[in-house]
Amino acid sequence: MAESKDYYNILGVSKDATADDLKKAYRKLAKQYHPDAQHTDEDKRNAEAKFKEINEAYSVLSDENKRAQYDRFGSNFEQAGFGGGFNGGAYGFSGFDGFGGMDIDLEDIIGSVFGGGFGSSKKSQGPTKGADIKSTVTLKFEEAAFGVKKEINVTRNEKCDVCSGSGAKPGSKIITCDKCGGRGKIQATQNTIMGSFSTVRTCDKCSGTGKVIETPCEKCMGKGRVRKSRKIEISVPAGIDDGQAISLRGEGDAGTKGGPNGDLYVVMKVLPHKYFKRNGFDISANVRVPFAKMALGGVIKIPTLEGEMEYNIPEGTTTGTTFKVKEQGIPVINGKGRGTLEFTVDVDVPKKLTDEQRELLTKFANTFGDEVNTKKKSIFGR
Ligand SMILES: [Zn+2]
Ligand SMILES: [Zn+2]
Repeated sequence: MAESKDYYNILGVSKDATADDLKKAYRKLAKQYHPDAQHTDEDKRNAEAKFKEINEAYSVLSDENKRAQYDRFGSNFEQAGFGGGFNGGAYGFSGFDGFGGMDIDLEDIIGSVFGGGFGSSKKSQGPTKGADIKSTVTLKFEEAAFGVKKEINVTRNEKCDVCSGSGAKPGSKIITCDKCGGRGKIQATQNTIMGSFSTVRTCDKCSGTGKVIETPCEKCMGKGRVRKSRKIEISVPAGIDDGQAISLRGEGDAGTKGGPNGDLYVVMKVLPHKYFKRNGFDISANVRVPFAKMALGGVIKIPTLEGEMEYNIPEGTTTGTTFKVKEQGIPVINGKGRGTLEFTVDVDVPKKLTDEQRELLTKFANTFGDEVNTKKKSIFGR
């Protein structure tokens, strides 16, 4: 059996407090411990427990019958044959756990007690930022490397230009919502073992504003926003990589009720390159070099992002050797300089030889004592 709670103590009033005293005390405490008035999550959790306790105390003491029962039996009602009692019963405040879980706005609960005079609801009535939009753009390898301007198509919600976002047909009036009578909220009374208590929900017809449009704007059907397809020019910075995104502030969905626009995020899809693989700002490629040049050394042509360049490889270069050329990689995004170009050489073995070449190579091989085929392969020998 749970210990009986001292509801008078919880509200900080004496046993002979009048209804007015109770209301005053409750109002003060409810404001103080209202979870929305707390700054940190921890404060919020502590306040929520306290807030529920205050509500429980007030719901009992403010009801004459319940107060009389409470004065006699305390908060544990089971022994007095009242079923669930105030604690842990199906409809008791303790059992009525988690205000959020039942989709009951804490503010609405206070509002129902004080006739809606508590504070102002922050839900769905103020300016709201528009949604962010994600888009994708495909870039060639070099476009990502050196930056490019691109035009992309974006479909987004924009403020309706006919009604300037009000949703009302020009010349039509904004009138009081007939469903909620302009209160923006609809009250429902629930009868429970503890008596009736009210829940309040936001009016669906006016979305809590209390106002509706007499004649909706024909272009946006009263929504104040319209879907629009837009071409937007984006400036892709040099050095961007596959999967990275740029953001364009304010290019997302339009906000509502004067709220700011959302942002547009454009994700890059970078196509592969014919020769190069990219790793950060470095690029790499394979280059085939004739055997004689590997052996003797000499100038070879290597591919670069801009075209090609000459590179002098030393004699005795073996297959698989990697050379690095600084400042020939990808420009560093929002920075200075460029990455490194790496190329790895592979020996380029000729597939067809003239008689003269064959003779020379045979002689060359013989100087090492190597035995090689001296005759052309016949078509039968393959
Ligand atoms: Zn409109
Ligand atoms: Zn309404």
